Amino acid sequence: MNYESTRAKSEKLSSAQAIVKGLSPEGGLFVPENIPQLTLDELKNLCTLDYHGRAVAVLGKFLTDFTADEIETAVKNAYQNEKFKDNIPAPVTVLSADTFILELWQGPTAAFKDMALQIMPHLMQISRAKIGENATTLILVATSGDTGKAALEGFKDVEGIKIMVFYPKDGVSAMQKLQMATQEGANVNVMAVEGNFDDCQSKVKEIFADKAMAEELLEADVKLSSANSINWGRLVPQIVYYVSAYCDLAAEEKIAMGETINVVVPTGNFGNILAAYYAKIMGVPIGKLISASNQNNVLADFIKTGIYDRRRTFYKTTSPSMDILISSNLERFLYEICMRDDSRVKELMESLAAEEFYKLSKPEFEKVKALFEAGYATDEEAAQTLKKVFDEYSYLLDTHTAVAYKIYEDYKKSSGDSTKTLVVSTASPFKFAADVLDALGENAAEEDFVKLELLAEKSGAEIPDSLGLLKQKEVKFKESCTVAEAKQKVMDFAKK
Ligand SMILES: *Cc1c(COP(=O)(O)O)cnc(C)c1O
Repeated sequence: MNYESTRAKSEKLSSAQAIVKGLSPEGGLFVPENIPQLTLDELKNLCTLDYHGRAVAVLGKFLTDFTADEIETAVKNAYQNEKFKDNIPAPVTVLSADTFILELWQGPTAAFKDMALQIMPHLMQISRAKIGENATTLILVATSGDTGKAALEGFKDVEGIKIMVFYPKDGVSAMQKLQMATQEGANVNVMAVEGNFDDCQSKVKEIFADKAMAEELLEADVKLSSANSINWGRLVPQIVYYVSAYCDLAAEEKIAMGETINVVVPTGNFGNILAAYYAKIMGVPIGKLISASNQNNVLADFIKTGIYDRRRTFYKTTSPSMDILISSNLERFLYEICMRDDSRVKELMESLAAEEFYKLSKPEFEKVKALFEAGYATDEEAAQTLKKVFDEYSYLLDTHTAVAYKIYEDYKKSSGDSTKTLVVSTASPFKFAADVLDALGENAAEEDFVKLELLAEKSGAEIPDSLGLLKQKEVKFKESCTVAEAKQKVMDFAKK
């Protein structure tokens, strides 16, 4: 199967090329030229397999230029190496007869980004070999917390690849900083930047666009690439867990084979919920796709009105991984609802860049409404929901998943829809221990590791090793730099 850009569909690429390139030169995102189908019989067969087997089957439908052996190896390295608790990457917890929680945070950094970032480095390594790329790939990441650590864990010690992460010196949580500063691996570098997240991101974008620097890097046999969710190699592994969750529910007879379920996703960059959309189009019986936002509710407004308008205040919330005003992956969905009209997508994206908003046509908006529901929750509403769910079910949500749960309840109430529902859980509550303790009404004025213990005591849940054991790890990266110095730091690391 070929891949094409959402803004220039005439040029076709293999999936290996799409993964190594990351982004199309005119700014578009790579998508498969059609969405492969999964029949109910195939789905039934997948129910007899474990996550590994399901992943091999689903990835095989999209990555048709990979051999079965290559996909097997990538899946094995990602999901069967004790990286995920008990080698079960995406378990489903049954909360009640009609509500199920898909836990996507059993991996090495305790957030759902691991689901994709544990396998993407392997897909990239195989892709590099396929297209004969011999230069070292240097992955640059600007992070506000979760992505940086997950990318470091995924790319550490992967041959032919180096990774460097920039984070805002005073802009990440203490736990996130410690997670990155203690990173192991011979090919990694972590740098605190004296600036905020936007400064880091702008600088990294500037470095990507710097032609003179690219030439100098090439002399050292290094090419830059990125690991964020615009890369197809990060999106495609996310489709697997929707297929797998459906199979788990059917196999355990929580739903009948073929029964429709709704899906609720705490949304930021629109990558996770887009994967659910692809699963639905493939044939997984998914009804409504329910998108949950925090106070940065640009997507909720878009789904309700057909107008994407980023001219609004940016809020810092207790669900920071959803603090986003430009949801990049929405472009892939627009491409589908515009009937794969690349010039129409280009027009909408140019409108967003120039005027900071765009408006869908009536028929386009009708399609959005038929597929999606949306809502948003304030920090206070999310905190109340977190406490309520804990009191009722003794189940602890993190602050992002609490937003999703609130929107699920709102939707049920307003629509009367009682379809069984999968709520997607994107982080371990321990990763956001301070705010979770606050929501439970505990005074969390203590030191970070004490907070973890307090939360474990209070909830009866287990502290993930990846967080609990941080205390014993050696701090390896203490260096910081100014924004202006970042470029030189990249050069130094590239040549090392
Ligand atoms: C990244 C992230 C999200 C948002 O996911 P998108 O794919 O960007 O929509 C939600 N919750 C957590 C904990 C995250 O790390």
